[in-house]
Amino acid sequence: MSDRVKLKTTATEVKVRNDAWVIEWPRASTPGGNHHHTYGLLTPYFKGLTEGKLMGTKCTNPNCPIYKGEGELWIPPRADCPDCHQPMKWEEVKDPKGYVFAYTFVERGGFGLEIECPYYQIDVKLEGVATIVKGYLVNRDKKIKIGDKVRAMFHTGDDATNTNLDLYWELS
Ligand SMILES: [Zn+2]
Repeated sequence: MSDRVKLKTTATEVKVRNDAWVIEWPRASTPGGNHHHTYGLLTPYFKGLTEGKLMGTKCTNPNCPIYKGEGELWIPPRADCPDCHQPMKWEEVKDPKGYVFAYTFVERGGFGLEIECPYYQIDVKLEGVATIVKGYLVNRDKKIKIGDKVRAMFHTGDDATNTNLDLYWELS
């Protein structure tokens, strides 16, 4: 077993419809069946991962009853603010880093899991981001603890899967 987690998957094909990515994701559980899914208005997030960018959204509407134009950055992003229903503004998190907020050591995954076990499933508190971001840690050669510092890493270019698996975390 290598000390770094690998993915057990291949890149999914991307089609573009009305500026949105549509992916085709074959699943072995349904012989001959494919799952088609659009990222819709969240396409900038998934496209950003394949380019090594972590993109979030914030509400900047001055008439928003909750945020009053000063929304915090959310990841995963939302296309529209749930409070004022106006489009959120996209923003890149530069040099994304944070710490382990919670974790689970996954020794055996369920059918269809595309991450090689064992691995740490982690929740990350990122600097400058209001929400907690879920993901997986690439390191597994030592025990981790809450508070350990991590930084975002990306599967880009030919390594991209075009899914949320393109975002992963490394101890820093
Ligand atoms: Zn709002």
